[in-house]
Amino acid sequence: MSGHASYDVVIIGGGPGGATAAYDLAGAGVSVLMIERERFPRYHIGESLTGLVGDFIREMGLAEAMDERLFPLKSGVKVIGREAKGEFFVPVLRPTWQVRRDEFDQIMLDRAVASGAQLRLGTVVAVQRTQDRVSGVHYVPAGADRQSAIAVRAQVVIDASGQHTLLSRLGVAGPRQVDAFGRQIAIFSQYRNVVRDPGQMGNNTFIFYSKVHHWSWFIPLSPEVVSIGVVLPVDLYKEHGDSPERIMSWGLENINPDLTARVQSAVRVDDVHVIRNYSYRIDPFVGNGWLCIGDSHRFADPIFSFGVASAMLEARKASSVIVSALQSGSCAQPFAEFEAFSNLGQDGIYDLVRYFWKYPAFFGIQSRGKLRKDIIRMFAGDVFSQEVQQPLAGMRHSLYGAPAERLPDAWSHEVARRVLCRFADFQGIAVAYMQLRGEGAELSFVIDENAPEVVQLVDSFSEDLCKEFGADKLSISRRFDHHATLPPLLPRDAHLLISNHTPR
Ligand code: FAD
Repeated sequence: MSGHASYDVVIIGGGPGGATAAYDLAGAGVSVLMIERERFPRYHIGESLTGLVGDFIREMGLAEAMDERLFPLKSGVKVIGREAKGEFFVPVLRPTWQVRRDEFDQIMLDRAVASGAQLRLGTVVAVQRTQDRVSGVHYVPAGADRQSAIAVRAQVVIDASGQHTLLSRLGVAGPRQVDAFGRQIAIFSQYRNVVRDPGQMGNNTFIFYSKVHHWSWFIPLSPEVVSIGVVLPVDLYKEHGDSPERIMSWGLENINPDLTARVQSAVRVDDVHVIRNYSYRIDPFVGNGWLCIGDSHRFADPIFSFGVASAMLEARKASSVIVSALQSGSCAQPFAEFEAFSNLGQDGIYDLVRYFWKYPAFFGIQSRGKLRKDIIRMFAGDVFSQEVQQPLAGMRHSLYGAPAERLPDAWSHEVARRVLCRFADFQGIAVAYMQLRGEGAELSFVIDENAPEVVQLVDSFSEDLCKEFGADKLSISRRFDHHATLPPLLPRDAHLLISNHTPR
């Protein structure tokens, strides 16, 4: 080992998380070294950016560089189920881009260096410790052997190593725990000659889904090329082919008829890539003199494209917390404020995506009803804000307020489908939730206080549903959004319960 360089902060990895932290820290006058093992530009998955990332890009003065590369301007996400009623569109809230990650990550890295951060090409292989505290890293410069590792001291080490999860592998952070979305495989490539929507809408992301954890993305990357991915549960993918190319073809043919129609004349222009078991969490992810940001400690199902937004948001929060710690001379403390911030946002992403997979049709309902503005906000990337905790609470009630046993998916989908067919335009209905309960389910409608005429429609619809699905299986409640004027109680034998409390 040789070398005794010393920095305030060393960052492992120069992806969007590492580069954003380096940019913020250098801008605050902190001495910062990024160590990146790959020579950029390098391939990376993760091409659809949220509105919030668009804000950050503009704040970093990169809008012109983005436009020069002709990255498509994204105005929203269309989610398309197998049935017509399963489709909804969520706008991005703030303008943003779809990116070719090799070029985007290079732009970000260059910006961090231009702001004063230093960059070394090399692989971090170990941490230094001083008593119980991480006090630096050892890295092997590109092209050198392990014996030539260089030691660098730091007040704080940030792990931004992405799916490599370096501090976890080194036993500094906790072990990698696979979560509910953990066992998935994504197979993806790039295509020309695919059918896009006309005009500006042709720049948007499409998400096609069929049964649980079977989905596809369709992300335009340039005027000609579209990134397409097929995602399946890991244990099932071999049933659909014996090579990534075959499984990809199976997905294009079978995930969704709309996708199939769009790729009839498609020509593949890239290799077929595969990534699996990419969802996990690592705990603890902060400690004395170190913290993890972005994929280096947590990642959930990428269906709603939160990855880059989370990495950048965490980078910004980590930077501000580290600047305060450096000023107060107390970097040895575990970064509790950062930890709480990260858990709030990452738990929100996890539950939002879980809610989508458990109640996809109801997710569609929420995206049209009163929660629409909250869903738009979350899709923009504001999942880490306090404001979205209230709408998430309603979804969590459906997810966690009930015992684990569940009715067959088909049953709840069918109830949701009926709701969507009956109240397609959502006039007068603010929110509808469904909660599976042991042997049955509870459906609750929140009616717009200005639409009392909807009450009768809901009641007769509810009676029909109870008759059909069994009054012992389905209980239905309704209340006004502002429950000052509660409607009269319905006969108990209809098994319709009117409650005047908000779904928890
Ligand atoms: P990364 O971007 O992975 O950067 C980590 C960097 O660390 C890399 O450059 C790596 O070379 C470097 N590194 C690793 N180990 C070392 C080491 N020992 N020493 C030095 N350097 C090291 N996100 C979106 O926002 N939109 C999407 O559409 C999207 N789609 C996705 C689809 C799939 C199938 C998957 C799996 C993910 C998707 N993501 C998406 C997520 C996105 O790819 C990541 O969340 C994002 O890249 C995380 O950024 P990061 O900076 O934390 O890590």
